[in-house]
Amino acid sequence: MSPKGNNEVIYPFGHTTIPSSQIVMTSRLSYVAVNIKPVVPYHLLVIPKRQGTSRLYDLTCDETADLFNLAKKAQRLVEQVRGVKSSTIAIQDGEDAGQTVKHVHVHVLPREKDDFAENDDIYSELAKHDQPNAETRRIIGYHRSLEDMEKEAEILRQYMQENEDKF
Ligand code: AMP
Repeated sequence: MSPKGNNEVIYPFGHTTIPSSQIVMTSRLSYVAVNIKPVVPYHLLVIPKRQGTSRLYDLTCDETADLFNLAKKAQRLVEQVRGVKSSTIAIQDGEDAGQTVKHVHVHVLPREKDDFAENDDIYSELAKHDQPNAETRRIIGYHRSLEDMEKEAEILRQYMQENEDKF
């Protein structure tokens, strides 16, 4: 974590960084960011704060517990905001498993009945949604605008603030 010139906090995400305007919530060792190319609406990423954690086994026990506890919180949040009762939780750990950003991240994907032709289609969409020249029907826009991402993060933060008792 490091402060930018204007005091905005940014967190590392592999080769890039995520500014606080795109962050939904944080815990001691992890943070939750909105996705630049969501596979479904409110597709979130739960990410350890420490740089250099490219694989799941790079995490300490403390970081692992913190990451998954925050993933549960993010899941509850997006299910409530979307009004759905299910989620796919996934990690593509390593290049051959489809990982494109070399920094551990848990995908939280809220699901609704019949959102894909076959339930498990979400995994092939996840594998290809951020590949160069990917052509997938489920992408909601290619590389969303900063404004879109900030708006979504704000909606989620506000929902949490207004429904503190539920988290
Ligand atoms: P994976 O293919 O499992 O490594 O997933 C990488 C995820 O990070 C994809 O869902 C991308 O859409 C997402 N992503 C990449 N860069 C950014 C970014 N700057 N901000 C938010 N999400 C990103």
